[in-house]
Parts: sequence; C-alpha cells; structure tokens
Amino acid sequence: MIPVTKPFLPPQEEYQALLNGIWKRQWLTNMGPLASSLEMQLKEYLNVNHLLFVTNGTVALQMAIKALDLKGEIITTPFSFVATTSSIVWENCTPVFVDIDESSLNIDASKIETAITPNTSAILATHVYGNPCDVEKIQEIADKHNLKVIYDAAHAFGVVINGKSVFEYGDISTCSLHATKLYHSVEGGLIITKDPKLLKKLAYIRNFGFDGPENFAELGLNGKNSEFHAAMGLANLKHIDDIILKRKQLTERYSEKLKHLKARRPIWHDMSVNNYAYYPLVFEDKELMMLTIEALQANNVFTRRYFYPSLSTSLPYVESQLLDVTEFISEKVLCLPLYYDLTLADVDLICRIILRTQNN
Ligand SMILES: *Cc1c(COP(=O)(O)O)cnc(C)c1O
Repeated sequence: MIPVTKPFLPPQEEYQALLNGIWKRQWLTNMGPLASSLEMQLKEYLNVNHLLFVTNGTVALQMAIKALDLKGEIITTPFSFVATTSSIVWENCTPVFVDIDESSLNIDASKIETAITPNTSAILATHVYGNPCDVEKIQEIADKHNLKVIYDAAHAFGVVINGKSVFEYGDISTCSLHATKLYHSVEGGLIITKDPKLLKKLAYIRNFGFDGPENFAELGLNGKNSEFHAAMGLANLKHIDDIILKRKQLTERYSEKLKHLKARRPIWHDMSVNNYAYYPLVFEDKELMMLTIEALQANNVFTRRYFYPSLSTSLPYVESQLLDVTEFISEKVLCLPLYYDLTLADVDLICRIILRTQNN
C-alpha cells in the first residue's frame, strides 16, 4: 500500500535518549528544557529572531488573530486547509474570500484591493504547498490600507525567499508541525514574528495570560506544548536536510516521468526555494483526474484532492461565495504520494499507472 503521506520517524534510540532525560528531570510540560532547546535550534535553523513552539498550527492561527486584536473582516484565500478559515470565524471575525491566481494557486494579490471595506482589519493568506505568496505586493496593499498581515505558513517550513526565511514576512507567520507535515513534532505549531512586543504578548497568551505566578497580563489560553513533542521535534530536526533532499529526488523523478502528462504544476515564486512538501498536479481534464485516482486506488496507491472542495463553497458556517479560478482549480487538483520512505521505484510504478490511464 502506498499512502499519500507517511510521517517520518527518527531512529527509535535517538528519541529514547531524549526521553531518558525527561524521566530524570520529571519535567513533562510548561516550557521545559527540551521545548526551549527546540525553540533555540529552530531559530538557528530557520534564521529567525523570534519564534514560539505551540500546541498546533490551528491554535497558532487563533493566537495570531487574537494578539493582533483583529476585528470585522479578514481577507483570505479559499484554497487552503479548513483551519485557515475556521480560525477566523472562531475569533469572531468574518472571512472575505479573494480568488486565487491560476499559476501560483495562492491568493491573487491583484484582486485584494477591491475586497477591502472600512471593516477590513487584515489579510490572512496561505503559502500553498510551501510556494510563497506575492509577499511584496501584499505588504504594499496592507501598508496602504493600514491592514495587518498573517501568513498561514503551515506548508512552508524551511522555505527561503529573497535570501531569508519566508516566516519573516507579514506581522505574524504560523506553521504546523503536525505528523503529516514535512517537518513534525507529532502535534505542534510555530508562531514567528519580527516584533519583540508582539512576541511577548503571544508568550503571555500561550500561558493563560500569566505574568508571574499571581499576575495576569493578557487574556490567554493553553497554547503550550509538551517535552515529549519537543523531543520528537529535536530528533526529527537532525534529519531535516536528509528529508528535504529525499523529497527533492522524488519530486524530480515525478516531473521527469510525467512531463507528457496532460497536467501542470503550480508556478513557483521566482525568488524562492521549494521545500518539496507536496507534489500537486492540476489536470487539464477532470475526467482524466478521476480515472487516474481510480486506477491508482485499484493498485493500492492513494492520492488526495488537496484542496477540494474550496472553502468558499463548502463551510456550513460561512456564506458561500463562487470564485471562478478557485472552483476551476479545486476540481482538477491532485496531490501524489510524497514522503521520506517512498522509493524511486514506487514513483516509477505510480507514473506508469498514471500514463497508462492517460493513454487508454
Ligand atoms: C495542517 C494545516 C493547518 C493546521 O495545522 P494543525 O497543526 O493540524 O492544527 C493549518 N493550515 C494549513 C494550510 C494546513 O495545511
């Protein structure tokens, strides 16, 4: 069986060695030494100044919206995971969807301005599949209209653009360290900001708003993560370069074998590196895509229609909004299996099945 994704697990003894320390210290959670060490190592690896390790990528988004005091309407992308929109609604704001760009599959920056109203407080955009949004244009619009910018960078771990971490863009970036993501701590999330004052506020929010044992500085929640999750993050970080390299090789093999497929790949930001988090294809024809899914499944290969359906037409708690490009793309997009344990022989097999389906 070939699943669409499979979590990376480090050699068990490497994780166990970190657990031995937990048993010695008996410090299990609440910003313990492994969580602090993970934050330090991630700051170094990602080359960012401020970063918080939190419960998960969804809580990271909710904390970001809360910390920026956002109200009213938030302009966002309908082509993302449900948490991008649900976190806006959870924080009592209204999502306003703007259509995506046909080539990058990210929010179409040229369509943002017409969606701005006096009630707009922010733009929350996703770097879909790790491909950076048009960050300069979005910042320009935000500055002009006095809006905050949050990036849902759940897919963008390790992505560098213009020579710096993509997490440095916007007022706040969030990342997910869920087991299915490129780099993970089983469950986990990151919040990144350049603003030390905002970081301080987010740190209060993460810990119930406590400022010392008997004082409160903010309205908070429990956004902390445990030593066990930090241990997995630390163990996996030792292998991250290897993980990305392997995914690069698999990606290049797919692209070479599938060059005559009637499907295209998203166009990458030209100042950015790829982290090979996903292998998405946009088929020319929905019928061919559906036949491909079936043929692969018959051979025990599982794909995912990521992202289908579009968030602008499928959420019972958000008013539907029909957006042409998003509807068109989400009907025809498919992610192929991509994970560390996948072999080049697996990729060859998958490509043979796909090409056979097209040529039949
Ligand atoms: C995975 C994901 C999230 C949610 O992250 P969790 O850590 O699972 O809560 C949010 N946004 C996007 C785009 C994601 O892919």
